[in-house]
Amino acid sequence: MARPKDRLLIRDAELLGGKRADVLVVGGRIAGIGRGLPDDAQQVREAKGGLLLPGLHDHHVHLAGLAARRHSVWCGPPQVEDEATLREVLAQAPGSGWIRGLGYHESVLSGLPDARALDLLVADRPLRLQHRSGRMWLLNSLALDLLLAENDPSPGLERGNGCFTGRLFNADEWLRAALGSNPPDFSLVSAELASFGVTGLTDMTPQNGPAMAAHFAGQRENGELMQSVMLAGTLDLAHALQTGWALGPVKMHLHEANLPPFDDAVALIRQAHEQARAVAIHCVSEVELVFALAALEEVGAMIGDRIEHASVTAPGHIAQITDLGLAVCVQPHFIFERGDRYLLDVEASSHPHLYRLAGLSAAGIPLAGGSDAPFASVDPWSAMRSAVSRQTIQGSIIGASEALSPEATLALSLADPTDFSRQREVREGTPADLCLLSRPWSQARERLTSEDVVLTVASGQIVYDLIDQTPVQRGSG
Ligand SMILES: [Zn+2]
Repeated sequence: MARPKDRLLIRDAELLGGKRADVLVVGGRIAGIGRGLPDDAQQVREAKGGLLLPGLHDHHVHLAGLAARRHSVWCGPPQVEDEATLREVLAQAPGSGWIRGLGYHESVLSGLPDARALDLLVADRPLRLQHRSGRMWLLNSLALDLLLAENDPSPGLERGNGCFTGRLFNADEWLRAALGSNPPDFSLVSAELASFGVTGLTDMTPQNGPAMAAHFAGQRENGELMQSVMLAGTLDLAHALQTGWALGPVKMHLHEANLPPFDDAVALIRQAHEQARAVAIHCVSEVELVFALAALEEVGAMIGDRIEHASVTAPGHIAQITDLGLAVCVQPHFIFERGDRYLLDVEASSHPHLYRLAGLSAAGIPLAGGSDAPFASVDPWSAMRSAVSRQTIQGSIIGASEALSPEATLALSLADPTDFSRQREVREGTPADLCLLSRPWSQARERLTSEDVVLTVASGQIVYDLIDQTPVQRGSG
């Protein structure tokens, strides 16, 4: 008789803290931890002293955007810095219909091009080019014509001299409807996340509602999406019926140039709390943070209320975040990926307040890390390196005193998604979400690279495996 299929033994792993043990997984849970556990599992993997971690959690990602990104063209720094390079990457865009460009920044064409300016780059294919902020699309004339042929214009379409300029602000919903596109398949990005040891994610897309919840549920059920999911999004999300995902915070997307009426923000926080849901408030400028803190002050915070990004945090605001008992979801790799631009765009007096880490941690603020992919790299290990080094691509250092130790930076990915003050552990009875490295922590902490991930187990199933090179069966158990 075959050995039970749902038993997996990981032999001789190092656990955080240095202890070495075997770990037995049965039916999606950790069933035993100890030395010399009986070798009756159907699957056995030799850890040889490599570190076994709880699977990493990406606390802030936009999965549909990331999946779509895999079929898109990157049109911004650092890969694209000037018009000639932009023209070249657009000419090489895959496929034959729509071109979806991402990551545009004003520095590429010195400003925000209108449709006619874009026509000079691409005239024979419809082009939609997303600004790096994720809040704006730039359309060429063909794209405008196609979108307006069968749809009423969005209020987000800018007009100049009586016609549309091609700039579309805060209108993703309209664009999606006008394009008639379905959410993308998650299998590719799920496999990519698995290769980094990521077994859980919190999707922070503000528009997430019942329809997107149904898509996530379907992707989980058919095994395309191997990570466990917490969905943040709209108030409506609470009324979605499908299972297979956990209900997360209500996402509030503030934008400094267009803040909502203060009373509306307060009312939204109240409604979220009435649903027993926390709020996650996007704050990438000091003005947005001041607004968010004032609104939370008005309502009173609940456990789980969180600030996303906290890109600029002055000392006074650290104290206020602490007093309110808020958590912060950080993106340390923005320093690496965007730091050189910040040094040019952000006034020097604010440089020490950019993407703080140690300063927040020292104040007792619970922290967790999120990639914010597709707006940045989805590799949590690259974020960890950035948190330790605080180095930009070009080698400048921003806020050296904000650096974290390798241990503290790893903890950003091990935080409990429902309460950042708690750390997940490899413990008996917990869900078998695991990430095995090829080496002990004493060596891995010096490298912090995804190259060290050799085995990922999500909900008890092996979803990434470099130890046993036979093909991995995905989602079929
Ligand atoms: Zn985001």
